[in-house]
Parts: sequence; C-alpha cells; structure tokens
Amino acid sequence: MSALAKEFQLPLKIVSACLVGIECRYNCEHRERREIVEMLKSGEILPVCPEQLAGLATPRPAAEVQAGKVIDNTGKDITDAYEAGAHEALKLAKLVGATQAYLKTKSPMCGHGKIYDGSFSGKLTNGDGIFAKLLQENGIKIIAIE
Ligand code: SF4
Repeated sequence: MSALAKEFQLPLKIVSACLVGIECRYNCEHRERREIVEMLKSGEILPVCPEQLAGLATPRPAAEVQAGKVIDNTGKDITDAYEAGAHEALKLAKLVGATQAYLKTKSPMCGHGKIYDGSFSGKLTNGDGIFAKLLQENGIKIIAIE
C-alpha cells in the first residue's frame, strides 16, 4: 500500500453527497443519514454529487429518466450533462479504488433498482439512474440507501 493510500485509508467507498447532508438535490435539500455521516467521519467514504459535477445548477428543474433519456420537467433533454457528470464521478471512484457505492434511491442519477418512471407523478419503475448504471458497468457494487 502506498503512503498516500495509507493517509486516506484507500480504497474508499463512493457515496451520494446528499446522504451526508450536502444540499445538492435539485431543490437544494439533502437526505442526510446519520450512519453515512459516521462513515465519513471515520474516513471510509468519498461523497460525490454527479449532477453537480455535470455543471448543473442547484437548484435545478427536477428530472426523470424517460426511455433511456434524462428529461427535465421543462421538457429539456439533459442526457448529455448526466452522462458527463456520471463519468466525472466515475473518475473519482477509480482514483480512490472504490469497489462499492452507497447511492440514494429513486434518483435519475444515483437510483438503483427503482427510479421515478418519467411521468413526474411520483410513480416508480424498475431501473437504474445514469451513475448507478455506469458504476455497475465498471464492476462497482451498489448499495441503495433510502
Ligand atoms: Fe444526491 Fe446523487 Fe442526486 Fe446528487 S445526483 S443530489 S448525490 S441523488
């Protein structure tokens, strides 16, 4: 193990930044989970918000996945921004040697297993957000956090 890895206790796990209290959700809210904050304090995790890494503003319009595309509630296709942000966050995951990620459920970016169905009506469907999908394609296991 390199000196740098010892200093930062690499590998780290990747975590959705809103789960440690960062107000990075589309509506400037967070979804802080005490157990995840404790993991941060003990140096086990690296919080990332792929939507902010995409350069999207906070606050921003809500967005959902529709037929593989990410569409915001004004009807704008923001798939390219989502893909770019997911790839930036993946770079960070690789830099810290992540093999696991704790991601917030239902999000069009971080959601795993169930995401909003694209109708902006609160209904869920089976599927993964753009970041969750990319991490899995790169061998990183997702743990979904409500
Ligand atoms: Fe949280 Fe992920 Fe959405 Fe950022 S992209 S607000 S980390 S769920």
